[in-house]
Amino acid sequence: MHPDLKAVIELQQIDLRITELTAQIDSLPTEIQNLEAQLNEFIHTYEERKQRLVQNQKERRELEGEIRSIATRISKHKDQLYEVKTNEQYRAMLKEIEGEEAKIHKIEDQILEEMIEAEQLEKHIHDAAARLDGEKARVASEVTQLQALRQTDVEERERLEKQRQDDAAGLSAGILDMYERVRRARRGRAVAEVREDFCTACNVRLRPQLFNEVRANQALLTCENCSRILYYVEPPPAESAEAQGADARTSA
Ligand SMILES: [Zn+2]
Repeated sequence: MHPDLKAVIELQQIDLRITELTAQIDSLPTEIQNLEAQLNEFIHTYEERKQRLVQNQKERRELEGEIRSIATRISKHKDQLYEVKTNEQYRAMLKEIEGEEAKIHKIEDQILEEMIEAEQLEKHIHDAAARLDGEKARVASEVTQLQALRQTDVEERERLEKQRQDDAAGLSAGILDMYERVRRARRGRAVAEVREDFCTACNVRLRPQLFNEVRANQALLTCENCSRILYYVEPPPAESAEAQGADARTSA
C-alpha cells in the first residue's frame, strides 16, 4: 500500500475516534445530571409524601375535634328538648339535632377517606425508605463510573490529538489539504473503503478502470461520485472460497 494512502487511512481512524470521544465527553455531564435528577425526584417524592402524611394526621385530628364539638352541641340540644314550651319549638329542635347528626356522618366519611389515603402514603413511604439507601448508592456508583469514563476519554483524546499532529506533520501539504477539504465537505469522512467494486460511503459502483487502479492501493484516487479517497481491502480468504464454492455449484 502507498504510504500516503496508509497515512490518510490512519488519520481518518484517529479523527473518527476523536469525534466519537468528543461526543461522549460532551454528553456525559448531561447523563450524570439526569441520574442525579432521578435521585432527587425520588427523594423529593418521598419527602412530599411524609409531609402529606403529617398533614393528613393533622386533618384527621381536626375532623375528630369537630365531631366532638358537634356531639356536645347535640347533647345540649337533647337536654333543651325537655325545656321547650311548644310543639313547634320541639320539632325545630329535633330538626336541628338531625342536621347536626348529618354533619357528623359527613365528617366520618371524610375521616374514612383520610384513613385510606394515610394507608397508601404509609405504604409508599415504607417502600421508599427501604429503597432509599440502595438508590443513593446506585446513583453514586454510576456517577463515579461515568466520571471515570469521561476522564479516560479526555486522556485518550489528548493522546490522539498529539498523535494526529505528528501524523499530519508527516504528510505533504497537498495531501493534507485534500484530506481536510474532503473531510469538511463529507461530514468528517474523507476516506472510504471499496468493497467489491462499490464505494462503501456513497454506494456508487466504480468504473472498471478506476476500480483496477484502486485495487492496487498504490495511489490516492478519489470516488468520482463523493470525492472520498478510496482504498481497497482484499476480502478474507474464507469468504472468497465460499463464493467460489457457490460459483461451482451454480455452474454444476
Ligand atoms: Zn463514493
